[in-house]
Amino acid sequence: MLFESHAHYDDEAFENDRGKLLESFKENDIEYVINIGASIRTTENTIALTKKYPFIYGAAGVHPSDTAELNEEKFAWLKEQCSLPKIVAVGEIGLDYYWDEPDREIQKKWFDRQLQMAREVKLPIIIHSRDAAKDTVDMMKAGRAEEAGGVIHCFSYTKETAREFLGMGFSFGIGGVITFNNAKKLREAVEYIPMENILLETDSPYLAPMPYRGKRNSSLYLPLIAEKIAEVKGISYEEVVEITSHNAKRLFQIS
Ligand SMILES: [Zn+2]
Repeated sequence: MLFESHAHYDDEAFENDRGKLLESFKENDIEYVINIGASIRTTENTIALTKKYPFIYGAAGVHPSDTAELNEEKFAWLKEQCSLPKIVAVGEIGLDYYWDEPDREIQKKWFDRQLQMAREVKLPIIIHSRDAAKDTVDMMKAGRAEEAGGVIHCFSYTKETAREFLGMGFSFGIGGVITFNNAKKLREAVEYIPMENILLETDSPYLAPMPYRGKRNSSLYLPLIAEKIAEVKGISYEEVVEITSHNAKRLFQIS
């Protein structure tokens, strides 16, 4: 069965049909979902979803673009949530130089603090890195990210950068972008990355695969991503589903 490693089902895009959609997952071959925190509020929402649905697990963390809200009190709260049984990762955390807000120094400070927190609580990290490959790699190396392990979500860099993350034992979240016509570089990187280091993700409600590009995304489109990976790797759809599901269960320690 399919393992959705990155989604935001607390998003308002699901306001009208959230329950109906989530309850349809089992019959659509979707076994588990990791709902991702991207701020204090969405980490709260994530925890609520993990309590309501047995197949939803969660990540607690603050996205680089939201780090301006952090202070010692909120950071302490975030760390407490990491001991909840269904919180299986810290994320999404990292650097975003595309939107480039708040100041890079603030993004870096809280990226490092959350990375060190993950090492302390012994959870893997979910990395968001956009237009910031070099600083991300440098900070992960300096911060001994290999001890936490984790996944580079929505990987969008080159094969060369993939090699750096692989060297630290990281996995790669591959989503709808791989189906886009202009994603030749990403398909080359996926060809290079070992299957054992690939996870399926959608980043719902964002980044819907072809032919739904621009529309609301959901985990129901995971098969389109798995099919494309199968094509790039020259293996069967079933193998992609089985291996990526196994990889995710191992990383997040869900059996
Ligand atoms: Zn995300």
